Amino acid sequence: MHTHSTYASVWAARAEPIPCVLTAMADEFGGDIPVGPFAIIGDDAIGRGIVSTLQGHRSRAVLMRNHGVFTIGANARDAVKAAVMCEDVARTVHLARQLGDPLPIPAESVDALFTRPDRLRPACSRQARSSRTGLRSRRCHAAPVTSRCCAARG
Ligand SMILES: [Zn+2]
Repeated sequence: MHTHSTYASVWAARAEPIPCVLTAMADEFGGDIPVGPFAIIGDDAIGRGIVSTLQGHRSRAVLMRNHGVFTIGANARDAVKAAVMCEDVARTVHLARQLGDPLPIPAESVDALFTRPDRLRPACSRQARSSRTGLRSRRCHAAPVTSRCCAARG
């Protein structure tokens, strides 16, 4: 999906990756949110730039230089979630910058957050429902039984 959401576009305008300084970023994107090349609108240059930038990244979001946010996902809902999360962390990290230098998260901790067993995988749309409230939880429906997300198996 594609947005021109304000804070993420501010990073895109400066062609600066959003550094992974929040656990939510490690959780959702597995590291920095990268910046792709400038591309003229109207042909497949944007698509090629998105694909080449996301190769080698765990991020489902890319900031295309001077443009805005493009996200991918296992399904439409997952891509929308990535776009919403991208704008949220773009805003928070921007604000943190106003007060000083945000502290990076060590690479091994980023890896641990991104790969932790109870993290809901994008491909898993079968979240557990609370028997008390009936609301979906962040946990995979299989997690209470297996301690791993069903989408992480096999
Ligand atoms: Zn656009």
